[in-house]
Amino acid sequence: DELISQIAAGEVVERPASVVRELVDNALDAGATQIQVKLMAGGVRAIVIEDDGLGIPVDELPLALKRHATSKIRSLDDLESVATMGFRGEALAAISSVAEMALLSRCEGAAHAHRLDARSGELAPAARSRGTSIEVRELFFSTPARRKFLKTDATELAHCMEAVRRHALARPDVGFTVWHEGKLVEQWRIASSEQRLSDVLGAEFLAVSRAVFSERGPLRVYGRAGLPEAARSRADMQYVYVNGRFVRDKLIAHGIRSAYEDVLHGHRQPSYVLFIEIAPDRVDVNVHPTKIEVRFRDGREIHQQVRYAVQDALALSRS
Ligand code: ADP
Ligand code: MG
Repeated sequence: DELISQIAAGEVVERPASVVRELVDNALDAGATQIQVKLMAGGVRAIVIEDDGLGIPVDELPLALKRHATSKIRSLDDLESVATMGFRGEALAAISSVAEMALLSRCEGAAHAHRLDARSGELAPAARSRGTSIEVRELFFSTPARRKFLKTDATELAHCMEAVRRHALARPDVGFTVWHEGKLVEQWRIASSEQRLSDVLGAEFLAVSRAVFSERGPLRVYGRAGLPEAARSRADMQYVYVNGRFVRDKLIAHGIRSAYEDVLHGHRQPSYVLFIEIAPDRVDVNVHPTKIEVRFRDGREIHQQVRYAVQDALALSRS
């Protein structure tokens, strides 16, 4: 069982940034409005994520660490959203099998918080306001071979920041604060979508991009597409979300790329942040443990609509 969970963990937890992604995901699922990410040594030494969400009832704390234990499937109706959101109850179990972990949580109305140490199973009273803190320390401490594959702290930190950025772009209604080695490195306050884009990607991005909006039946594409002059040599400013989840999808990327085919040449990469809203039964997000890939039922239509939406946005600037 230990081995099985370590193998499963290998698929979910690749580096500190994967932990950050999963824990922030959980905080958002719990309805957090403020999320703090505290890192030590690029997240390798410690990742502590604190939220002001609903909290975990004390009797459910041990359950949260079990494989396939999720509080997010309550009814048969929910199975639909399970298929689309990829809720699988794997993350905490996986992380706790490759790192030291503690859960600290307090629900509304509880007299105090409780802290559960994952390794010893010890449950003790603790202090904190409503919400949850998850502490992850010494990632891959028991698998030195995996730990050896980690890059420098600076590189791991950059990956962690990118994981937070991906969430932050999609959730301007949530405040994010990131600390590294006890120093504040980033703070994004609750803001409008446009302000959040500017805070996260820089005010220049707003100036050199155009609004995208297209709606056809249950399919909606919106966001911002960078003008040709905003193109970069690396594909590092390309954000696509499907129903609020960050994805990397070849079909969508190709749709966007083809909108730029007459204006971008060589290896220059367009910059964009696109949100695609689609009926949940038209998309399958549960195809990969990292939940980063999707499969569409009507790929051609989506490709075309994405392409036209971006083309229209870019044409605005030529008039
Ligand atoms: P999943 O998110 O797929 O349900 P996880 O392993 O990520 O699985 O989390 C297991 C369970 O732990 C969740 O279903 C939820 O009940 C609880 N949980 C984890 N993190 C939090 C959090 N920050 N706030 C409230 N509950 C949480
Ligand atoms: Mg989760």
